[in-house]
Amino acid sequence: MPRIQLENITKYYNHEKRLIPAVKDINLVIEPRDFVFVTGSSGAGKSTLLQLIASEITPDEGKIYFDHIEYNAKRTFLRKPKKDGIGYVSQLSHLMRKRTITENLMMVARMKTGFRKERPHERIEKALKMVGLPDAGRFYPVELSQGECRRVELARAILNRPSVLILDELTANLDEDTIWDLFHLISEINRMGTTVIMATHAKNFVNIMRKRVITLVAGEIFGDVQKGRYGDVVKQQPPL
Ligand code: ADP
Repeated sequence: MPRIQLENITKYYNHEKRLIPAVKDINLVIEPRDFVFVTGSSGAGKSTLLQLIASEITPDEGKIYFDHIEYNAKRTFLRKPKKDGIGYVSQLSHLMRKRTITENLMMVARMKTGFRKERPHERIEKALKMVGLPDAGRFYPVELSQGECRRVELARAILNRPSVLILDELTANLDEDTIWDLFHLISEINRMGTTVIMATHAKNFVNIMRKRVITLVAGEIFGDVQKGRYGDVVKQQPPL
């Protein structure tokens, strides 16, 4: 089971010819089977942090370790954590409109990610069942609701049985019932042993779940609280 460790991670973006850190000097350890909410206002650095952990982008400073192995996106063999161990759902939907749900999932199911007992079709069937859409395979994304499409993306992310699931605003723009269903589902996936790292604005749900809550402010960790609530911050230590 992997442990994720970030050491002095900084990522800059170019803004009007100046380098601005999107996340700055982040130090973080996420233990196996942890459930972590990443919160903070828009622009606080949540997506950047998640993309770094998912090895979608590389840091400008610092190191990230997955199970004690350092990420290095330039060297393919070390991209293995992403291929094999991490399921990532980005903020924007990436379902292909002209492909059915099964065809969309097949691209991921066929990825060569080591020895798998089950055939791609079986894994797709199981993943769709898991997210409560057993019959969605033959439909096109446009025939599904927004909430159902997000479920399909969740199914795609868990297809290859990742040990870490990274979800960026999975529940944005969804109604309360759908959000609740998704949170329930993600809790279940976590309960079965998958580490979950989830950026969200769903304050009420974060408060009910009482999981670890990391709060980012202007790219820095402002709070990191076990069994936390939305907006919890670490108590400042008095100066010695
Ligand atoms: P959040 O997910 O909390 O809304 P982001 O990680 O998306 O925050 O963004 C953090 C900061 O980095 C913002 O100021 C944003 O404008 C900047 N940023 C993020 N991605 C890019 C990018 N690809 N190019 C330029 N700036 C970016």
